[in-house]
Amino acid sequence: MLVVQKFGGSSLADADRIRHVAGIIANEYRQGHEVVAVLSAQGDTTDELEARGYELNPKASRREMDALLSCGESMSIALMAMALEALGLPVISLTGRQAGFLTDSQYANARIKSIDPERMRTELDKRNIVLLAGFQGYNRYDDVTTLGRGGSNTSAVAAAAALKADLCRNYTDVDGVYTADPRIVPDARKLAEITYDEMLELASLGANILHNRSVEMAKRFNVPLEVLSSFTPDVPGTKITEVTKMEKMQVSGVARDNDVARVSLVNLEDRPGIAARIFSLLAKAKVNVDIILQSIGRDDTKDISFTVSLKNLDAGLRILREHQEQIGFQDLVVSDSVSKVSMVGAGMVNNPGVAARMFEALSDAGINIQMISTSEIKVSVLIDKADADRAVRAVHDRFFGEV
Ligand code: ASP
Ligand code: MG
Repeated sequence: MLVVQKFGGSSLADADRIRHVAGIIANEYRQGHEVVAVLSAQGDTTDELEARGYELNPKASRREMDALLSCGESMSIALMAMALEALGLPVISLTGRQAGFLTDSQYANARIKSIDPERMRTELDKRNIVLLAGFQGYNRYDDVTTLGRGGSNTSAVAAAAALKADLCRNYTDVDGVYTADPRIVPDARKLAEITYDEMLELASLGANILHNRSVEMAKRFNVPLEVLSSFTPDVPGTKITEVTKMEKMQVSGVARDNDVARVSLVNLEDRPGIAARIFSLLAKAKVNVDIILQSIGRDDTKDISFTVSLKNLDAGLRILREHQEQIGFQDLVVSDSVSKVSMVGAGMVNNPGVAARMFEALSDAGINIQMISTSEIKVSVLIDKADADRAVRAVHDRFFGEV
């Protein structure tokens, strides 16, 4: 069996943590498996390196910043190799370049174009443990590139896809994906399994364990993923695959997203073309719109409300105000004291009534719903931010409480 393991920065923070992780890698190898371990930079190294670069030049070029930031991962693999050598194990560290990670030339946010797995394969055939620097690649000019913050996850999944690994184990500082954020719902349960699509929804909702980009890649190449903690490596984590065995699971999790604002355009003319104009303006300004609600027209006017992420809010408002006359709205009402609460579950499609149960739970808790949106595997509601945690608990209790 070929296993790709990935260890994040907090799992590698100091010499003790490195020794501990070396033990996890050694353990996998001693079971007779082929092992590729993808490593992040230690602790906050990437942030620290970035700060050192900007201290010298606040306008540092991206090319040189990538050359600098990639050093964090290069250090990790060399140090880990030494720790494994100390255990008497055959090991070799490889940079992104050595491992054949060809990317495009978007420094700081490069995309992997192809991977030539030959070197990794050769080393595995020699029964070496391969330590791969995450986050790094090289472009056609033979310059170092990086894959964007958190990119080691993507490196790991890409390596697993290129080597046709049997499993990609992602070790982080949480031991799996839960039915809700345990800080909000103390009795949230760990999920044994979850589908790629559910994971994508939960990640975008703030259960930020894996980069969406890496989950999308895992889905595309059908790489089975597992999320588990390096602090408790023997505790099974959460498996992320295409189909789960738990077909009856209607809802897999409840999540909250506070990074959202509601924008309402009031007293618009009720005629064709208005919505098209608004949303194409926003699209041109690269403002991503999430939930949309249009009121029924009365007296020849209507209102349109939508949500955007906070970081897009200013750009969105600017473009709408600039085109107030052309769009023809009377008022622009904005609220950032809102929160989006979503229920995610691949089994929802075949189970009518799930949304109703969610709304009932909210109504029983006296929580008012401002907007609703649904997809095949998700129901989201927009509510007052002050109610958000209570809403997550109420919905979670309704679906998971009775066990
Ligand atoms: N070291 C990089 C970062 O902190 C990449 C990673 O950890 O995945 O973003
Ligand atoms: Mg990091």
